[in-house]
Amino acid sequence: MIYMQLTETQEKQIEKAWSRTIRLLTARFHVETNEPSYHILSFGGGRQTVGLLLKMRGLFRRNEKAFVVFADTGGEHQETYDYINDYIIPFCAANEINFVRVTSKYGKTLYEYCWDKKIVPSMKFRDCTSKFKIAPIRKFIREELKVTRSKPCYVYLGISYDEADRMNVSNVLYAKSVFPLIDGYKEYCEPETTLQDCLRIVKDEGFPPVPKSGCWFCPFAQTTDLLDPRYKSKTIALEENNSRFPEILLRGMKENKVKPIRELTDNDIKLGGCKSGYCMV
Ligand code: SF4
Repeated sequence: MIYMQLTETQEKQIEKAWSRTIRLLTARFHVETNEPSYHILSFGGGRQTVGLLLKMRGLFRRNEKAFVVFADTGGEHQETYDYINDYIIPFCAANEINFVRVTSKYGKTLYEYCWDKKIVPSMKFRDCTSKFKIAPIRKFIREELKVTRSKPCYVYLGISYDEADRMNVSNVLYAKSVFPLIDGYKEYCEPETTLQDCLRIVKDEGFPPVPKSGCWFCPFAQTTDLLDPRYKSKTIALEENNSRFPEILLRGMKENKVKPIRELTDNDIKLGGCKSGYCMV
């Protein structure tokens, strides 16, 4: 038998393709045919979740068992808050859709939380996502709606077909993750809906383009966003306030040749970052 020596890049590519296949399959099996106790749309404020809300309006309209839930970190760009206030909340009100804003149990924004703890959001552990996005939504589900494992709810996530490798199976039994843009959902949403489809859905509704969601100090943000003059000095302050600065930087370890935010310039824009929203809620 001949064994082929794979390069590190090839191994990573195979690993990624394999995990994507497994996620796609397991997510499908995770959804049962039983009616859920509640329908929860995890609303991140980005392009895909706005598209998803527009597609799913028929399910959410005048439905006391359905809620659009926005977990607010307090760190979204002003454009996102403006879009929610100017378009999403009025749309929900006009369609009699329950829109709920939830926040973390810490009684402070994610920025203040990181500042007080002298840390930066961790790319590796994603504490910020679990504490400021996932936990507040789950608290609402458990404490306000009293959902239990015996009658779980569905949580609809706006992950588009072209980003299917961001899918994550729920790790709690009382809330099942559903991906209508990928798998489709009844008559409301066709499967294999891409980001481009979401942009078209938003345009067809007569809404302006949705601004990119995510915290302005997110470690996954594109360089161009981190250079935004409205927020740059506050992001630098947060990075330098971190108790392990300069070893630990917002975008990773200094030893890995990561640049401090203070040193980023327009020439670094090619360094990239995430084009979508940053949270994989
Ligand atoms: S957008 Fe970034 S910083 Fe904000 S909660 Fe999500 S991963 Fe953390």
